[in-house]
Amino acid sequence: MTMNTSIAFLGLGHMGGPMALNLGKAGYTVTGFDLSPTAIDAARTSGLTVAATAAEAVASADVVITMFPTGRHVIDAYSGNAKTPGLLSIAKPHTLFIDSSTIAVDDAKRAHDLAVAAGHRNIDAPVSGGVIGATAGTLAFMVGAVPEDFTLAEPILTTMGARIVHCGAPSAGQAAKICNNMILGISMIAVSEAFVLGEKLGLTHQALFDVASTASGQCWALTTNCPVPGPVPTSPANRDYQPGFAGALMAKDLGLALDALKSTGVAAELGPIAAQIYRRFADENGSGVDFSGIINTIRDNSTAQTNA
Ligand code: NAD
Repeated sequence: MTMNTSIAFLGLGHMGGPMALNLGKAGYTVTGFDLSPTAIDAARTSGLTVAATAAEAVASADVVITMFPTGRHVIDAYSGNAKTPGLLSIAKPHTLFIDSSTIAVDDAKRAHDLAVAAGHRNIDAPVSGGVIGATAGTLAFMVGAVPEDFTLAEPILTTMGARIVHCGAPSAGQAAKICNNMILGISMIAVSEAFVLGEKLGLTHQALFDVASTASGQCWALTTNCPVPGPVPTSPANRDYQPGFAGALMAKDLGLALDALKSTGVAAELGPIAAQIYRRFADENGSGVDFSGIINTIRDNSTAQTNA
């Protein structure tokens, strides 16, 4: 792939919009498309060339990047329906399809098989780093790809990310993403429970932080995304839990982890509990709140029990 490479970027939402812009700034010829007129308008205003239809964006592209909400969106867009032709049938032969959405491992496998059967290349390249990382071009990409496709995609991903990890064969990127986020969900609950317990035992937040952040309780949920205001000034807790990483997305990712735990038969206990806790959190007003806001639920429930 060279700078003459033509890229269709579909899904210009919170993440896709800034990612597409960074590709354009790096010199690629980028044409964007989104089903939402609002997203199209925002992308056009920020300087991206946009197409009137997905077909128009994809027909002459060498690379098609998708950044959609779910696996259903990816498979439907790839396959099409009676009214809308699928992207796989519109694209030139041997087009490189890069899906950066966070989707189920099984959906990633299916998307890969569909793309290859249609004569294309396909890799899964989900990201972490949020909207800030998407805007700054510092995302971490977790890639599932055959080696040849990884080599083709790497320079493109590098313009949007600071760290590109080839995790293995197709779908391995999604596997890494949900395993990582299962660790994150569980550890955020653990850190939050510990802070509420510390409060009940008369410990200051700073004292617990000073000990745990340099002892065996150390983890990202504590040292970077600390769920109490104060010890880490940049954590969402200092701005009323504005995301950051929204509760809805953590609930979604843990749901994907739960599906994978079930389909693989892993005897996990904490993963399913974390999925349940974040599903409830998202359903009860936590959907747009940073996932570290789970500490408020734990504290509120604790108070109710103490007073009962
Ligand atoms: P978003 O809802 O803001 O954007 C998704 C966009 O896809 C929407 O604008 C929607 O209209 C568009 N879309 C859906 N189907 C389409 C189609 N067939 N053709 C064209 N456009 C279509 O979501 P987001 O926050 O940008 O997240 C995208 C993906 O990235 C999700 O899978 C999410 O889990 C993952 N992710 C998000 C974050 C984050 O912080 N927002 C972080 C890491 C990963």
